[in-house]
Amino acid sequence: MTVRTRMAPSPTGEYHVGHIATLLKNYALAKKHGGSFILRIEDTDQERQVEGAVEKILSVIKAYGLDWDEGPIKGGPFAPYVQSERLDLYQKYAQSLVTQGAAYHCFCSKQRLEELRTNQVAQKTRPRYDRQCLHLTPAEVGAKLAAGQSSVIRLKVPWGQVVSFNDLIRGQINFQSEDVDDQVLLKSDGYPTYHLAVVVDDHLMEISHVLRGEEWISSTPKHILLYQAFGWQPPIYAHIPVFLNPDGKGKMSKRKGTVSAQSFLDQGYLPEAMLNFFMILGWTPADQREILSLDEYIQEFDPARISPKSVVFDLKKLAWLNGIYIRRLPITQLAQRLQPFLPADFPKDKLESILPLVAERLTTLSEIENLTEFFYREITVQAQDLIGKQSTQIVKLQLQTTVAALENLADWSVVSLETAIRQLQEQADWKKRDYFMLLRIAVTGKTATPPLFETMMVLNKPLVLSRLQLALTCLQ
Ligand code: GLU
Repeated sequence: MTVRTRMAPSPTGEYHVGHIATLLKNYALAKKHGGSFILRIEDTDQERQVEGAVEKILSVIKAYGLDWDEGPIKGGPFAPYVQSERLDLYQKYAQSLVTQGAAYHCFCSKQRLEELRTNQVAQKTRPRYDRQCLHLTPAEVGAKLAAGQSSVIRLKVPWGQVVSFNDLIRGQINFQSEDVDDQVLLKSDGYPTYHLAVVVDDHLMEISHVLRGEEWISSTPKHILLYQAFGWQPPIYAHIPVFLNPDGKGKMSKRKGTVSAQSFLDQGYLPEAMLNFFMILGWTPADQREILSLDEYIQEFDPARISPKSVVFDLKKLAWLNGIYIRRLPITQLAQRLQPFLPADFPKDKLESILPLVAERLTTLSEIENLTEFFYREITVQAQDLIGKQSTQIVKLQLQTTVAALENLADWSVVSLETAIRQLQEQADWKKRDYFMLLRIAVTGKTATPPLFETMMVLNKPLVLSRLQLALTCLQ
């Protein structure tokens, strides 16, 4: 069997991390078996469409380092891959179901359907269509159509059947057919509903596996019934658990932080770290390792090993992974990736000397400004921080002695700086921790910084001397 998987985004808003995580699984399954990954735009819900959403979805998929074999822009043997350009197909297939008696025209007004629903809710019965139009005779239907009455086409669900499918992750799932509503297939404006369009397209595009979010499980019996009505073979399904919020409570939602796939990249998470994170959320390779390249994942991915339990979108783990991927980058590449995150006043000519000092401490690219600003912005220091546990007298002496020694330092290198400063400390027998912390705060304004002598070297002589003087004036 040729493996053909797909992702079918609806351009109704931003693409979420959950979408990319699901897309990755579809992509990996296709690549593992030498098959194709298809991207299809499901834009049949005209009311919920958001201007520009398609472009954003395509661009974020690429920003994550993923791509499709067939789909928008690229085309392919089953083009077009945008549902609004395939309306005649859905109309034709809906009509064929009417002709064979598996679907019927429904002329009920919106108002009648609303009343029906309100009554059913009041009587605590499950809201569903009551099949009033199923009982129209062909002549009555013909007359209404001829009179131009607006209608939809509904599936005539065969009652008394068990509808079942074998989910790759969850095993066999059964539904009773009479629990399935006579769903609308074709709307009065000639647009298909999601249910009709997804089945027609997955069939025509020869999709072999559908890996999608678990929120679609309840739609699957509707789809299976449609496949049956058409006499087609359904694809293999796997319904992927949703992510839980980082605090472990509830389905991941905007209310508890960002879910937008683009925003994680904007915050400075590397796409390859994000992909690795998605790989290991709810799935591990046979040897349980957690760091995997995309190629390794493709080799080992098996949807049957995805856990059916929802997993927490663990931001600590993501930060850990991102740090690993940042530290793996050669400095020149890291410098390149950092470009969009550098503030306007960052001294670009110093980037390659500053980076090795802070790369270890970056967990996201956007932290670059915070970690490096003392290299190029004025700092502020407080007397009490400079003094710490020492006396003002000693601290002044330490600063004065250091200034004098560094002014005379001919060679401003890490080795000379270290030798000179260690010598001062030993000769005067100052407490090493206190003295070094004083220097650190005086030259950077911070207590946690990259290694002191390297930092002083990169800051350069005039700046270090002026900051030491500034610290002295602070103590006056
Ligand atoms: N268009 C649906 C969505 O927005 C696709 C669901 C499916 O994968 O069947 O997620």
